[in-house]
Amino acid sequence: MNQISVIDESGADGVIPSNILSQFKVYTHKDIDRIAQLRSVSSAALFEMKVVSSILPFRVNQYVIEKLIDWSNVPDDPLYQLTFPQRDMLPPEMYRQMAALIEQNAPRDKISALASTLRARLNPQPSGQLEMNVPLDRNGKRLNGLQHKYRETVLFFPTQGQTCHSYCTFCFRWAQFVGDENLRMASTDTAELHNYLETQPAVSDLLVTGGDPMVMKTRHLAALLKPLTEPKFAHIRTIRIGTKALTFWPQRFLSDSDAQELLDLLAHLVDAGKHVAIMAHFNHWREMDTPVARAAIDALRQTGVEIRSQGPVLAHINDSPDVWAKLWAMQVEAGIIPYYMFVERDTGAKQYFEIPLARAWTVYREAVKQLSGLGRTARGPVMSASPGKVEVQGVTEINGEKVFALRFLQSRNPDWSYRPFFASYCEKATWLDQLKPAFGEKAFFFEQEYNAMQQARQSR
Ligand SMILES: *Cc1c(COP(=O)(O)O)cnc(C)c1O
Ligand code: SF4
Repeated sequence: MNQISVIDESGADGVIPSNILSQFKVYTHKDIDRIAQLRSVSSAALFEMKVVSSILPFRVNQYVIEKLIDWSNVPDDPLYQLTFPQRDMLPPEMYRQMAALIEQNAPRDKISALASTLRARLNPQPSGQLEMNVPLDRNGKRLNGLQHKYRETVLFFPTQGQTCHSYCTFCFRWAQFVGDENLRMASTDTAELHNYLETQPAVSDLLVTGGDPMVMKTRHLAALLKPLTEPKFAHIRTIRIGTKALTFWPQRFLSDSDAQELLDLLAHLVDAGKHVAIMAHFNHWREMDTPVARAAIDALRQTGVEIRSQGPVLAHINDSPDVWAKLWAMQVEAGIIPYYMFVERDTGAKQYFEIPLARAWTVYREAVKQLSGLGRTARGPVMSASPGKVEVQGVTEINGEKVFALRFLQSRNPDWSYRPFFASYCEKATWLDQLKPAFGEKAFFFEQEYNAMQQARQSR
């Protein structure tokens, strides 16, 4: 039998039988009644789950169900909250409307029509992603599936990577998963990407994202990435791949049929001189705390890639300094570099997961305080807003006025970055658009220029 050796939690040599590793079995909206572990959940909660998942995407695989969720602690378990729909993830009025239809056994087309209407009210494309960041080629053609917002980094959304091994209930890209073509921003055209990169000498980083590009077959990833080792792409120094596969399906790097080819591809890119960064999405230390996840992290690190971690701070999942401190400490130990702590974006189930900016900053500060410098490398909390990535540096008082100290880590105009600016303190604010400039100023320093940029794009 094909077996993979791992070090188990006790530090002893352990073995994972291949039957745990190899089968990928996934459950969606239609399969809720087939998940054996849900038998202990009340029928009222099951009904709520069906209502919510007729609007927001739901997808979970057996590894998450069997190895990550602690079923003795449902519904509070953070990994259950991460993947299973809860009633309050929808605004009450929306919930009532959909529940009424489902209770009446309404026909499927009526349910999906209401679902589309309601989804449109959940701000499916936050921060002007569709309108503002899509670049044009030499002939003025829009390059769908690409985003070029910050000078040095191009994002690519390969079509085959626009799903994930499971879905996060808070996902900010959820609109892509529920079948509305208008909300997709994917591309099958790797030639278009390569042609664009060739014309952009200022771009040093390619970020392949989704969904999760690690759901792609290795041969598709190879077609996308291998050409970048040619001399004409020498300016592309860094290849980043965003993924939550280390959480949702670490078998991707161990036992999937093309796992070894994937590791070989990554090693090849590293050997060709690229910096390859796996941008691993983690929300809770428990995601790293299985033998399979540890084995996958080790297998990846042996290829020479760096693993950096990022993820949002969320009510019901990780609104706790101790959870972040333990997550970052475990990451440092495993050779993963903490990179960003995000603030949840204004979309989908936001009202369920959001926490005030002031609280997010407290969680960040109380977490890093527990760690040595190596555990303090994550920047945050960060709002990925339309003008740029805004970091909450802290709460302080200047001339008797309580303020947030803020700065851009990335900005549409590169010159806005790393300049401190101040907003009046507000205990409840959860996003940049709820903040007002401090000291009686009328606008933040970047606003006039930003508004002009927006108008220029709208008229193009
Ligand atoms: C975060 C982000 C990047 C990368 O920014 P870094 O600071 O280099 O990590 C690039 N493009 C977009 C749209 C982003 O949100
Ligand atoms: S892994 Fe990322 S893209 Fe996939 S569901 Fe979670 S947040 Fe969304």
